[in-house]
Amino acid sequence: MNTDILADLRDVCDALTNPYQHREPRWEWSPSRHKVKLPDHVVILPGLIAQLAELAEIPSSPGGGDDTPTSRPVPQSRPPGNPQALAAYLDIHLGVAKWTILFGLDSRDTVESQVRHLVASVAAQDAEDQAGLLDELRRWQRRAEIICEWREADMQLEVPCPVDDCGERSLRVNVAEKTARCVACGCRWAEEENPERGVYSIGVLAGFIADHKRLSKAGADRAREEERVRKAARSGRSAA
Ligand SMILES: [Zn+2]
Repeated sequence: MNTDILADLRDVCDALTNPYQHREPRWEWSPSRHKVKLPDHVVILPGLIAQLAELAEIPSSPGGGDDTPTSRPVPQSRPPGNPQALAAYLDIHLGVAKWTILFGLDSRDTVESQVRHLVASVAAQDAEDQAGLLDELRRWQRRAEIICEWREADMQLEVPCPVDDCGERSLRVNVAEKTARCVACGCRWAEEENPERGVYSIGVLAGFIADHKRLSKAGADRAREEERVRKAARSGRSAA
């Protein structure tokens, strides 16, 4: 068992399923104009799946799962829930069902406890499935964090995907993490490449993007130059 994958799986599983504490530091100015530290403002936030359920306004959301019951009443007068949150929440349910069948597990009563069940059983799975589950959980985490506005959506590039028989203009780049992915073909780029898992070198992609931009710029420069020559020829004729 790759202990890195196991530790990563636990971290992502925690973010998705467990409530966590957010600390906001606070200060005030004393009459003598000294900055005085106040006790941190501490809020307990539900796990990401429960936050999606809350945004989607799913009435009987189980919150953090059976061991952390946080069922919330839903007021009747609220506007319809966030459709992105609903789609992400349902996709997670579908994905969890798929992995439950693949791993041959029994079913727990909430989606959160089922995610924990998957992660707890992962040591018995082969390396490919372990890595596949980690990739999937990370996708869910990233999507939930964007919808819950904990993370900026990745930057979209106008450069076509360099993968043979893709070429779609659907690259997304995460500058902070130095990763990229193509939402059309699913290929990814990172500092550590792993072609068997569809992860290629971000350095090679950066080179491709730079080449593409240079070629596009050269094309634009050429077009401008041709236009300048045409204009000069026209004004030359009118002057003659
Ligand atoms: Zn692609």
